[in-house]
Amino acid sequence: MAHISVSALRDNLTALSARAGVPLLLPVKADAYGHGLELVARVAAQHPDVWGLAVALPREAAQLAALNPGKPILLLTPPMPDEVGPLADLGVRLPVSSLAEADALPPHARAHLKIDTGMNRLGARPAEAVVIGQRLAERGLLEGAYTHFASADEPDLTFAYTQLERFRGVLTQLPPVLAHASNGGGILSLGQLPGMRLARPGLASYGFAPPHLRRVVPLLPVMSLRARITHIHTAYPGESVSYGGLWHAQQETVVATVGMGYADGYPRNATLKASVQVAGVRRPTLGRICMDQMMVDVTGLDVQVGDWADLWGPDTITVTDVAEWGGTIEYEVLTGLGARVERVMAQ
Ligand SMILES: *Cc1c(COP(=O)(O)O)cnc(C)c1O
Repeated sequence: MAHISVSALRDNLTALSARAGVPLLLPVKADAYGHGLELVARVAAQHPDVWGLAVALPREAAQLAALNPGKPILLLTPPMPDEVGPLADLGVRLPVSSLAEADALPPHARAHLKIDTGMNRLGARPAEAVVIGQRLAERGLLEGAYTHFASADEPDLTFAYTQLERFRGVLTQLPPVLAHASNGGGILSLGQLPGMRLARPGLASYGFAPPHLRRVVPLLPVMSLRARITHIHTAYPGESVSYGGLWHAQQETVVATVGMGYADGYPRNATLKASVQVAGVRRPTLGRICMDQMMVDVTGLDVQVGDWADLWGPDTITVTDVAEWGGTIEYEVLTGLGARVERVMAQ
């Protein structure tokens, strides 16, 4: 079960908006980084520092529009031609990075010009972007313009500043628009950027920052993940636990089986590295992480079937720890949280 702390999310949004000096366009793609689109959209809808919400896919945009958040929704990746009309009808702001896309927009659409300043993933090159932006402005469709930093979350900001300069070069040749560039890394490392009107912190809103930026703004992990002990038994010396017999008991070991596994998004690669917290104590997992369960050494602890094991949270093991054990990053762990894990709002 995942507990989503409304107060942590609210406080993170307030702090990030203050640091950026502008309202937020909150990324809620991938089920709000695994936190639950509906829960997060509800909090964002009532937060004074959130201007709007950003999603990656047309399907996500339609789901979000159906929740009626009462705030603008921006689609971040290009829709297919047949998706443009329906999305515009829903009021979804659309990314545009070619003249053909600009010309194909219906007259009631609202566009955010997407400019490729060095990420080399999406967007129009700066020179081309000026022409596209002017065309959109002539048609009265240009609401915003944005770019995306490739390495604003790294200590060396040289390239981020280069990208910013290219972006500003385009903006000076357009009428005033809602310009936005910074992701969470950009907000934390670059702070207020003159000319920018919005910022898009994803992972930071959910409470995580790279090590060198952790002290810039106090962020609280929004999600706590827990699962129940479903079975307790003893493994005797020489016996193995779980698939493949990777772990053997050296002495009598009390084993608790916990109802969470890789189908819930807990990384299987964390096998033989992961710990969980049981009865307030950090204890190692034993043998392979399974699809639906993992086994934990609870020898000497006063635990019973039905007790909860904490897999991550603000006051225990962190998502960062789990990502490290799994050889991955917080983004992948959070967005990989299984659909079958219940998300509940907590204060
Ligand atoms: C996902 C995304 C973000 C958020 O990035 P974080 O690193 O999570 O802050 C911002 N902008 C765009 C275009 C994105 O795709």
